[in-house]
Amino acid sequence: MAALRARAVLLTGSNRGIGLELVKQLLGGPRPPAWIFATCRDPEGPRAQELRDLVSRHPNLVLVKLDVADPSAIINAVKIVEGKLNGAGLNLLINNAGICAPVTLETVDSEEMIRAYKTNAVGPLLMAQAFLPLLKKAARESTDKGLSCSKAAIINISTIMGSIEKTSESFFKPVISYRCSKAALNMLTKCQALTYEETGILCVALHPGWVKTDMGTQEADLTADTSVRGLLSVLPILSEKHSGSLLNWEGKAIPW
Ligand code: NDP
Repeated sequence: MAALRARAVLLTGSNRGIGLELVKQLLGGPRPPAWIFATCRDPEGPRAQELRDLVSRHPNLVLVKLDVADPSAIINAVKIVEGKLNGAGLNLLINNAGICAPVTLETVDSEEMIRAYKTNAVGPLLMAQAFLPLLKKAARESTDKGLSCSKAAIINISTIMGSIEKTSESFFKPVISYRCSKAALNMLTKCQALTYEETGILCVALHPGWVKTDMGTQEADLTADTSVRGLLSVLPILSEKHSGSLLNWEGKAIPW
C-alpha cells in the first residue's frame, strides 16, 4: 500500500475527536511527518490536555492556537507555521474543525446559520487562502508528478449529510445549519480543485463515516480509531482523478 510522505501537515480542531486521533495516528505511522501542526482553539485549556501530553513526547508536534472562525487567528497561525518551516512548504492542510447543532427548520435561526457557516465553510475557505503560499511552495519543491497528499493538498473533512442527493436517507436528523454549511464546503472543495489544480494542489472532501466522538455520539457506527485508519489509508492513494470529489473513509465516492 502507498504511504503518505507528507513532510509538513497542519490540522484544525485537533484537540479531540477525529482531529486528535489523526494526530495520534500520524505520529505513530510508518513515516511520521517532520512537522505536524496540531491547531486548536484553546491550547492552554483542559480540553487540550491530551494534545499537550503528546507535544511533550514528540518534538515534531507543534501546538498552535487557532480558531477557524477568527480571520486574525488564521493569519497569526500562518506566521507561526512559516517560522517553524523555515523556508519549506506545507504539504497537507486538513480542515477538520466543525460544529453541528441539533436544529430543525422550525428551530434554526440566523445566528445559528451564520455560526455554522463561519466554522464549517468560511473557516476552511480562509484557511486555504492564508496557507496557499505555503502549499504552493510545497508543490513547487516536490519532484512528484501529478497531484498527491505527499506533494500538496487541501483535505476538507465534510460529511454525507452535506450531499444533496443523499439527504432523504439521513433526514431523520435534520441538523439544517450543519447540512447547509457542509454542502457549501462541498461546493468550495470543487471550486478549490478547479482553481488550484494548475498550481499542483489536490483538493478533496472526505466523509469520515459516523464516528463515536462528542459530535457523533456513542451511538455511532465507527470508533475514531477505525475511521482515522481508513482516512489515513485513503490519503496516499488520492491523485488528480479524485481532486474535486467527495469520498468516504474507505475511498468510495459519494454523490454531491
Ligand atoms: P467533535 O465535536 O468531537 O470535535 C470537533 C473539533 O472541532 C474540536 O476539536 C473542536 O474544538 C473543533 N472546533 C469547533 N469549532 C472550532 C473553531 N471555530 N475553530 C477551531 N476548532 C474548532 O467532532 P468530530 O471529531 O466528530 O468531527 C470532526 C470533523 O468530522 C467535523 O468537521 C465533522 O463535521 C466531521 N464529521 C464527523 C462525523 C462524526 O460522526 N463524528 C460524521 C461526519 C463528519 P473545541 O474543543 O475547542 O470545541
